[in-house]
Amino acid sequence: MDELLPDEIRQVRDAVARFMAREVVPVMDDFEARGEFPRALVRQAGAAGFYGAVFPESVGGTDLGYVAAAVVSEELARADVRFAACNNQQGSTCPQCIYAGGTAEQVMKYVPPLLAGETIGMMSLTEAGGGSDALGQMQTRAVRDGAVYRLNGAKMFASMANETDVGVLLAKTDPDAGARGVTAFIVEPKKYPGFEARPIEMHGLSKALRTCAVFLDDFVVPVENRLGDEGDGFAIVMRALQPGRVTVAAKALGVARACFEDAVRYAGERELHGRPIGRFQMIQSDIAEMAVAIEASRALVYEAARHLDADLPSNRIAALAKFHASGTAKLVADKAQQIFGGYGLSLEYRVSWLKSYADLFFTGEGTANVQKILIAEDALGYKQADRHHGRTGLRDPRRDDIADELG
Ligand SMILES: Cc1cc2nc3c(=O)[nH]c(=O)nc-3n(C[C@H](O)[C@H](O)[C@H](O)COP(=O)(O)OP(=O)(O)OC[C@H]3O[C@@H](n4cnc5c(N)ncnc54)[C@H](O)[C@@H]3O)c2cc1C
Repeated sequence: MDELLPDEIRQVRDAVARFMAREVVPVMDDFEARGEFPRALVRQAGAAGFYGAVFPESVGGTDLGYVAAAVVSEELARADVRFAACNNQQGSTCPQCIYAGGTAEQVMKYVPPLLAGETIGMMSLTEAGGGSDALGQMQTRAVRDGAVYRLNGAKMFASMANETDVGVLLAKTDPDAGARGVTAFIVEPKKYPGFEARPIEMHGLSKALRTCAVFLDDFVVPVENRLGDEGDGFAIVMRALQPGRVTVAAKALGVARACFEDAVRYAGERELHGRPIGRFQMIQSDIAEMAVAIEASRALVYEAARHLDADLPSNRIAALAKFHASGTAKLVADKAQQIFGGYGLSLEYRVSWLKSYADLFFTGEGTANVQKILIAEDALGYKQADRHHGRTGLRDPRRDDIADELG
């Protein structure tokens, strides 16, 4: 199936694989041991164009589209999913929010450096009160004070918040208006006081690319850093989350492939009863189930990406892809661990921790239950999954609106 991709996308895929094999894989364990964020490598990936697939060239993108973005995410995650952890911050949800809701000046100031890996992004929506109801339950307040907003409250699970230069953060400007009272802000934590990020200890996840709890104490955001109008946060986030789910699904696919490749190699090498365990039919049964699930996931993920590229309604297909691919990653990671026997629990082998990423992709950016609700309510005719398509009035990253606006 891979080989049916257009030439230019296969070339990008091969370039990502080469970059990961040469530059990242040999040193990533050292960054993990030191707990150090691989800033120079992110910059290299950005310079190579790996974060810019869905953005026009006028803002530093490569304009290759969502299938290319999915293929890049899959390949990064296959080689080392820990390094792929900042993908969404650099090339998906964070810059997409800015592109969708920002003025031409905001876009030109903040998006190109994110895509180039020169600044580190963040997308901070979730709070402790409930990720799946993040907008409804939001407690963080933004109050205007002359030329700035002052933000107070706490955010949860903000990935890369301890490194971020430029992020998007959601806060309530109208606490009585529910999700419609949420506003999106471009935040610059290194420039303004009142922002503290504390990395959270997570089971099996990277020590170099962290997710954090964030505490905001009169954190200053200039008014010119507001995205859109007060109350536009909901529409902006919805616009970015849908393609973000396809990117996450692609990362889950990459994790499944990594587990599969390791399991196949190990099954060929490990000898018991005088032959490789790959000769045992029960191991073969697992290998076959893993292969089928991966190919089915890939078909769904690329199909969702093709919908996005064709500007077709894609919320439902994105939910199907995310649900299937993250479930596949869990299944394949689990089977891989079993094929490794006791060694599947040893930190010597990455199958011991890859399962944690499968679990993350099952939950992050919309949990499996949330995807199932969306799919089932659509099937039952209660709520059409694609009802918002084309109605946000926001800018689409695939269209070169910025060049038009700036003349
Ligand atoms: C490592 C990591 C990185 C993350 N990075 C980011 C980030 O960068 N930015 C960010 O904003 N967030 C981030 N998140 C947050 C992530 O998106 C949330 O964890 C996710 O949305 C779920 O929210 P929750 O954990 O509060 O679970 P809850 O929303 O509390 O859900 C708990 C359980 O209830 C289920 N549930 C919820 N609603 C329903 C329903 N209506 N019917 C049935 N079941 C339901 C869920 O499926 C889940 O099983 C990250 C999370 C992790 C773990």
